[in-house]
Parts: sequence; structure tokens; C-alpha cells
Amino acid sequence: NTPLHELDPDVAAAVDAELHRQQSTLEMIASENFAPVAVMEAQGSVLTNKYAEGYPGRRYYGGCEHVDVAEQIAIDRVKELFGAEYANVQPHSGASANQAALFAMAQPGDTILGLDLAHGGHLTHGMRLNFSGKQFNVVAYHVDEAGLVDMAEVERLAKEHRPKVIIAGWSAYPRRLDFAEFRRIADEVEAYLWVDMAHFAGLVAAGLHPNPVEYADVVTSTTHKTLGGPRGGIILAKKEFAKKLNSSVFPGFQGGPLEHVIAAKAVSFKVAASEDFKERQQRTIEGARLLAERLTQTDVAEHGVSVLSGGTDVHLVLVDLRNSELDGQQAEDRLHEVGITVNRNAIPNDPRPPMVTSGLRIGTPALATRGFGAEDFAEVADVIAETLKPGFDAEALKARVTALAEKHPLYPGLK
Ligand code: PLP
Repeated sequence: NTPLHELDPDVAAAVDAELHRQQSTLEMIASENFAPVAVMEAQGSVLTNKYAEGYPGRRYYGGCEHVDVAEQIAIDRVKELFGAEYANVQPHSGASANQAALFAMAQPGDTILGLDLAHGGHLTHGMRLNFSGKQFNVVAYHVDEAGLVDMAEVERLAKEHRPKVIIAGWSAYPRRLDFAEFRRIADEVEAYLWVDMAHFAGLVAAGLHPNPVEYADVVTSTTHKTLGGPRGGIILAKKEFAKKLNSSVFPGFQGGPLEHVIAAKAVSFKVAASEDFKERQQRTIEGARLLAERLTQTDVAEHGVSVLSGGTDVHLVLVDLRNSELDGQQAEDRLHEVGITVNRNAIPNDPRPPMVTSGLRIGTPALATRGFGAEDFAEVADVIAETLKPGFDAEALKARVTALAEKHPLYPGLK
């Protein structure tokens, strides 16, 4: 029972350094968040030791009476949170959830219709090198000139290719999808509608975004983005998919479930049902709105910086640097220099190569979790705007970042 610092100082040092990085910089990667200490406690618990192949009450191992309780709590809570008839909380990650979901709805060789990766889709929605792109016949839809998903194209492609599954969901898109319209098109061509709400699940849980569970046959999500829980995945669906989905997750793609992570998911679903969580998601959306507003003002616009779709309805902003002398890599590096972590992101019709890009994806969930309110987000937005302008003063901007980080201490009890 030697503690980590004694048993393995090398790994402990990396963990400590990462804690310090998270505490002293501003995390604005749109897919990241800070899990509550209670979530990390569950995740770091003895449940990591338990094999529990199967589902609560029907396991292939003995001694599952306690993990059964935790897993059933997770299932019941997430069903309640999103109004779902069925839930599977075992997927190890978002990609695992998507793989299991897709194979429950379609066979290799079937046609799937999803948002192009370069237009904001995810790898698992049909990217060439991903299982989805390798094993399925992929047709991709796109965003239009205004940066909005082109529903006329979705309908045209659906009618032309008659996909088995239509995928609605994104990793880099600043607006809401029209689920009702996706449902109408799916019904018209007798396709399944699968919504991947990984990015916006927290907003849905808080009632601040339309709930895809009301429209889709199957909904997948990660639990660690806006939802703010441990890294992992979930699948929600109508009752009739229960058997197929359960068997697709286990034994289809996974063996023993990560019961420690499932317990942590259960804790995070409890948190997500609270009033505090709702208020946090409101600050998240408000922060993104303030950022979009700041980055469309003339002092940055005159240097070629703009915001895709002109704003945001969600937790992220996509910055368009096509007309800027800064490319995505340079802008990411500059922000890193002042203590703000973001990721460069290809934007639709990006003229620069994928490792460089002409865009940035900037999200507010982690800072909202840290306690940032409108005033703080306005200050962050101004720091970002100033950093993207020529002649930026790295020292002065870094001092402003440090002041914000100190104003909202992260994990104050942890060392
Ligand atoms: N689906 C969407 C829409 C995502 O954005 C992501 C993660 O970036 C995933 C699925 C995959 O999640 P994970 O990284 O946990 O496999």
C-alpha cells in the first residue's frame, strides 16, 4: 500500500505537473472539462479491481452484488436525466459507444450518411481511416456558405443513397442541429437516425438545448465533455434496441466493463441533474456568446479574424483565420504562450494543410466549471482578441491570465 509518490516518483511527478498545468492555465479545449473530486474518487476506487462481464443481475462472474448497485444507479440516473427508455453505461469511450451503436443498426458495407470531418463531423461518423469509413459505405453532408448544416443537401443525399443510418452530431460546429428535420428525412428514406450528442450532452441535461432522445432511434455521448464526468461513453435508445445494443457492447466489442468509471458516471449524472449544473451550463453558453461577440469586433476583424456562422448557440466558438496572417498552428501557439489552451481546427474548405489549419476551436465548459462568470469570460475574450492581433504583449496578457486563474482556484484541496 505504498503511496504513488513513494512507489513511482516518476509517474507521480507527471501527475503533479499536470495538476499544476490545469490550475495555472486557462483550459479552453471545447471537449474538455474538470471532473468533480467525488467523480475522481469513485474512479480511483476499489471498483477498478472487479470483473463484471454481463449486465446488472446477469453477470458472468461472482461477487458482483456491489458493482451491480453502482451500475444500476448509473443506468437509472442517465435514463431519467435524458428521458430515455434504455441506457447502456458500459462503453469505454465515445468512440466505443459509436462503434457498438453503429454495428447494432447496420452491417459492414451498408451506407451511412454523416457530417464530413472537415466540416465539423467526428472520426467515427465515416472518416476514411476510422472503422466507420473502412467498413461502411460513407456519404458525407456539409455545411453551407453561412456555416450551417445544409439540410437540403442532407435530404438530397438521403434520397439518392438511401442510407441505413443518418448521423446527426458534431465535434466542431457552433450551432444547434434541426433534429425534427433529420427525423423527417430519416423517416422518408426509412433510415435509422443516430444522434451523437457527445459535445452538447451537458447542455441537453440542463434543458438548454433540444433533447435528441425525443427524435433519434439511438443517441450516443461521451460523459467527459460538457457533461463533466469521467472519460467514457453511453448509449441511449428506444426500448426496442435494448437487446441489440447490449449485445453489441458486450460481447460484441467489449469484455469486462470499467465499473470504477461506471460508478463515476453515476456520480456525474447526479451532479448533472442539479440546479448548480444548470447554472454552470448557462454560464458556459453565455461565455461562448461573449467570446464570439468580442472576436467579431472591428479591431480583430481588420486583422482577418472572424467567427464561423457569425456566432454560437453552444459552448464553443470556431475562429476563422483564413484571412489572417496567423494560421491555426501559430494562433494556438500564441495562446499557449499567454497561458490559454485551445486546439487548432480545420474549418470548412480550409486552404491550409490539416496539421496547420486556418481555424481555432475555443470552448468554455472547463472555465465555467471553474466558476467563471460573464465578467471573467469578457476578460478572457479580450485577452484572446488581443493575443490574435499583431504586436501582442505576451507578458502583459499572461499576467491577466494568471490573475483569472488565481481568482478561480481549481481543485484547491489537491496537491
Ligand atoms: N463523438 C463526438 C461527436 C466527439 O466529439 C468525440 C470526441 O472527440 C467522440 C465521439 C469520441 O469520444 P472519445 O474520445 O471518448 O472516444
